[in-house]
Amino acid sequence: MPELPEVEYASRVLRRAVVGRRIVRVRVMHRSLEARLPPSAQRRMEGRTVRAVERRGKYQLLHLDDGSVLLAHFRMTGDWSIGRVRESDAPYARAVLELDDGTRVTLADSRALATLTLVDDVSAALPVLGPEPDDASFTPQTLAALLSRRRGAIKPVLLDQRVVAGLGNIYAAEALWTARISPRVTAHSLGPARLARLVRAIHQVLRRAPAARYSAARSGSRWNVYDREGLPCRRCGHGVRRIVQAGRSTFYCPFCQKR
Ligand SMILES: [Zn+2]
Repeated sequence: MPELPEVEYASRVLRRAVVGRRIVRVRVMHRSLEARLPPSAQRRMEGRTVRAVERRGKYQLLHLDDGSVLLAHFRMTGDWSIGRVRESDAPYARAVLELDDGTRVTLADSRALATLTLVDDVSAALPVLGPEPDDASFTPQTLAALLSRRRGAIKPVLLDQRVVAGLGNIYAAEALWTARISPRVTAHSLGPARLARLVRAIHQVLRRAPAARYSAARSGSRWNVYDREGLPCRRCGHGVRRIVQAGRSTFYCPFCQKR
């Protein structure tokens, strides 16, 4: 599943390919995707120029010149493949935008769970999203307010997009390890010092993240705790433990992330 830095990278690749270009033709090759982007929406997009590409959480927003917005979400395995119209379709091509300069933007997705939706009102279409982790509004104070009523464990709460937009499973675990906070601690019990460490850690792990395609970036060796069950903690040498919280794996060091 692409994490925030990888969606940011993908949106930059998309922006370079599409902004200022006119959409000549839209093709959708997968039935479940066609249910979300029916032929009427595809026809409506043809002839429109892409004004801007924006990222919000893990959503990518293509603003078209008639005010409509194409919302893209990669889910598990989606990605953009940029090529030329005359080339044969990319592997796992699910939808294609053909542009007036001969560029072809393909949504490639082996699991076919990625979504494309054309909307007129973005705020109504998007779920409520918390601050972006790199936004100035994401501070220990705003995080304290967002967590004040949350009685669940901090790790699953950090995956809630209403708390912070787009922080995924890997970076939530890495940030908690960096901040020396147990993933099992009750969210609203975090005091100012630990919240400050947590915000700093979230900034740090996202800043260090490679800006690359996620399909190429997953070496595994660069994580401190993620996917390292049984391996020594890089800080104290104790074995990294894996637990399941809200259906997702959490990796942490029980020694330096005490409750
Ligand atoms: Zn440790």
